[in-house]
Amino acid sequence: MPDITLINPADETTLRTITHTTVEEVDDAVRHAMSAQRAWAALAPADRAAALRQFALTVGDAIEELAWLEVRNSGHPISQARWEAGHVRDVLNYYSAAPERMIGKTIPVAGGIDVTFLEPLGVVGVIVPWNFPMTIAAWGFAPALAAGNAVLLKPAEWTPLTALRLGQLALDAGLPEGLFQVLPGRGDVVGERFVAHPGVRKVVFTGSTAVGKRVMAGCAEQVKAVTLELGGKSANVIFADSDLEKAAATAPYAVFENAGQDCCARSRILVERSVYDRFLELLEPAVQGVRVGSPGDDGTEMGPLVSKTHIDRVSSFVTDDSRVAFRGSAPSGPGFWFPPTVLLPESRTDRAVTDEIFGPVVTVQPFDDEADAIAQANDSVYGLSGSIWTRDIGRALRVSRGVESGNLSVNSHSSVRYSTPFGGFKQSGLGRELGPDAASAFTETKNVFISTD
Ligand code: NAD
Repeated sequence: MPDITLINPADETTLRTITHTTVEEVDDAVRHAMSAQRAWAALAPADRAAALRQFALTVGDAIEELAWLEVRNSGHPISQARWEAGHVRDVLNYYSAAPERMIGKTIPVAGGIDVTFLEPLGVVGVIVPWNFPMTIAAWGFAPALAAGNAVLLKPAEWTPLTALRLGQLALDAGLPEGLFQVLPGRGDVVGERFVAHPGVRKVVFTGSTAVGKRVMAGCAEQVKAVTLELGGKSANVIFADSDLEKAAATAPYAVFENAGQDCCARSRILVERSVYDRFLELLEPAVQGVRVGSPGDDGTEMGPLVSKTHIDRVSSFVTDDSRVAFRGSAPSGPGFWFPPTVLLPESRTDRAVTDEIFGPVVTVQPFDDEADAIAQANDSVYGLSGSIWTRDIGRALRVSRGVESGNLSVNSHSSVRYSTPFGGFKQSGLGRELGPDAASAFTETKNVFISTD
């Protein structure tokens, strides 16, 4: 019997049904993965590199197919979905260079030589949320495979289609059976089994902070390695000396991209008090200019929210009591549509300011000076991302160092490049993904002393 029926969030039509993986099937997959991993790790590094390059090529040939799957399953605008599929290819290409660069050290010691090896962990479980189904999966599986591990990937319940297709593409590319398996299913079944199964040696979890804490506690039982990429409530800090026109024109895209379902969304705009009113005047046309509509149209910039459950949650943050400054547009009719919304909260403790909304809702608040800007930016349990707008390079650096966050951008809103590290401070996470060191995060360092006596 199928366990979940997938709904197209743009028109509420039924897509297809998916049968969920059982605990027994997870256990079979772990056994299969353990044996595939031993053979994979024993291959010559250049052969593992070539296999990953082939996987990248195969994904590259399937970009249109993957992108349209994401449009239908997740409601992502087609231009964004094409970028996401291309990003998976690029991440695979980047880490295909890693197998031949898993370089240990030679350490000077008395009586012999001392060398270190970066040994693969074995089987890695990757648990992914629904907001960026294929890109976040690739951040886990590409470096893990490159380091010589097998990977079990659990997509989110609502958005498994691109992950399932990537599993097939891996086989088409010639990756060995069992090395990379995609197991759709429930978090409290498949996800929890990754945490509890002693054969899974690391869990890479991306999702909510509440579930991440459970995953971390579960991993502690076996002293199992864990990476956590969790929630965010990032600040977009705009000083009076900045290019205010550019800051206002770009601010909507820093929070409303992917309909705000982005852990890096700059969902708190903080503006220096002297330019607060002027900034709001400039922000209004920018918000109203965001093209919200059918995800299949090339010009669409923002699609629907992912599900009925999620739109109900996001709606709870915009009530009759909310001070709404202005809103953008959204289609009427079927689909989980929510217009871009700008709130002017009365207090810094308003739940729209403190809680991750994960939808197209942003707050705008004034600050008095640099110290106040840093204090407000840091007044959160989260610390994932953020932006700083100023023409003063010294201030840009001071504020960048002062904000407790893993990924900051100055006079821009970029957060994710596959070649640079990504991850959060505080309750936004633990560990880093991407960048030059990601493959070694899927290894244990082994030290060997060889006596010359
Ligand atoms: P979620 O925590 O509900 O689910 C994430 C994944 O965990 C899903 O695959 C789910 O099935 C699984 N899961 C649920 N319960 C589990 C359990 N008990 N054990 C193991 N796995 C379990 O999160 P979501 O609603 O899918 O995603 C939204 C959240 O993800 C937001 O908070 C967002 O900020 C966060 N996120 C963080 C990053 C980042 O890199 N920091 C990136 C994207 C999303």
